[in-house]
Amino acid sequence: MSGVHLLSKEELNPFRIAQEQLDAASEVMKLDHAAHAMLREPMRILQVSIPVRMDDGTVEVFTGFRVQHNDARGPTKGGIRYHPQETLDTVKALSMWMTWKCSVADLPYGGAKGGIICDPKKLSKRELEQLSRGYIRAIGRFIGPEKDIPAPDVYTDPQIMAWMMDEYSKIVGYNAPGVITGKPVEIGGSLGRGDATAMGGMFNIREAAKYLKLDLRKAKVAVQGFGNAGYYAAYLVSNMLGSKVVAVSDSKAGIYNPDGLNAEEVMKHKSQTGSVDGFKGSEKISNEQLLQLDVDILIPAAIENQLRKDNADKVKAKLVAELANGPTTPDADSILHEKGVFIIPDFLCNSGGVTVSYFEWVQNVSGYYWSEEEVNERLDSKMTKAFSDVLKTYEQFNKKIHMRTVANIISIRKVEVAMKLRGWV
Ligand code: NAD
Repeated sequence: MSGVHLLSKEELNPFRIAQEQLDAASEVMKLDHAAHAMLREPMRILQVSIPVRMDDGTVEVFTGFRVQHNDARGPTKGGIRYHPQETLDTVKALSMWMTWKCSVADLPYGGAKGGIICDPKKLSKRELEQLSRGYIRAIGRFIGPEKDIPAPDVYTDPQIMAWMMDEYSKIVGYNAPGVITGKPVEIGGSLGRGDATAMGGMFNIREAAKYLKLDLRKAKVAVQGFGNAGYYAAYLVSNMLGSKVVAVSDSKAGIYNPDGLNAEEVMKHKSQTGSVDGFKGSEKISNEQLLQLDVDILIPAAIENQLRKDNADKVKAKLVAELANGPTTPDADSILHEKGVFIIPDFLCNSGGVTVSYFEWVQNVSGYYWSEEEVNERLDSKMTKAFSDVLKTYEQFNKKIHMRTVANIISIRKVEVAMKLRGWV
């Protein structure tokens, strides 16, 4: 039985965890009561019912959400997730994490998130298009380039963004590419968006390695999850940082090879077979074993609650770079901090995605498009600055408070200042 079942549902509720993280940071920074109360709950929650005529002629009604957590620093921003187990609490948690992410990366945005309870793997392309367009019709009045700007997340992709942008443009009666990011390049997407989350993670790892005096050319790396974030991470770890990826995994299995894995070859194998499992020359391992491997860097890039109080003390990596959202529970945070494991928290480590989304939006509203080199250079400077701001504060606290709380303090402070300047609190 996986350890995740040993913990109660309430203990792993992402919104409860997000609130707990906020409370911990608020206590250290002595955040005033009104600002704390504003940030503890989202500003706006929308639930919608979306009727879709299925291919067999019947109508199915799907439930969708859009949650806007806080817009004091600018229009809200956050992805849309399609998932059979999607819950309002997950969307609320992710919207709060988006507020921190945009703030820590110093983007002029607040946080939001959206989701639809559905299994996209069971829908035809036509049904998926109807669902995506129906969702935009349902939330259309609440989003816009100056209000709230969605993007892709788990199980949504550039094609879905294209349909959504088109539906919104039809509603308002003009071409509005700035309403959504993560679009195909041909209709206003940005160069460099595909691998931006992983690329941003690499800049963070590079800076952390300098600080930890970790030689990246000798480092061994394990990556959990082999989707958008995880695949590009595995590819860039070898091709950009010069480190060795010894293990990767997906929801079906993990694979291990101490001599190193070639990410492109593993992806070819996964495209043909549906999983990384059975890749030539590799040993099969479980996801749990992957997290406990004797590596220098562990990159969780799959889903929430992977490092918990029942397994955190078995982590051997010196550096945990969180590309997934919410992979570490608060109990695990404390255990890892005690053990001296250095964590680059999710909303800092994976903020490359929203940063290039911001670049996409800037290009859309200005109508002037950049080269991939320009995008990556600007991403590097944003990520390096964000990491160094967090590190400076971490040292000011004599490393007594873990990196997540430190990063939280920085982002909460910026949102608090914006709320105060606006006269909200
Ligand atoms: P994805 O759907 O492309 O990939 C997810 C991967 O995780 C798949 O390989 C899947 O098989 C694997 N997986 C699912 N359950 C697993 C489990 N229990 N154990 C191991 N592997 C499992 O999604 P993605 O876009 O790569 O997102 C992954 C994570 O990164 C999510 O937490 C997401 O919120 C976060 N993230 C993604 C982006 C982005 O730009 N893609 C940006 C910021 C954060």
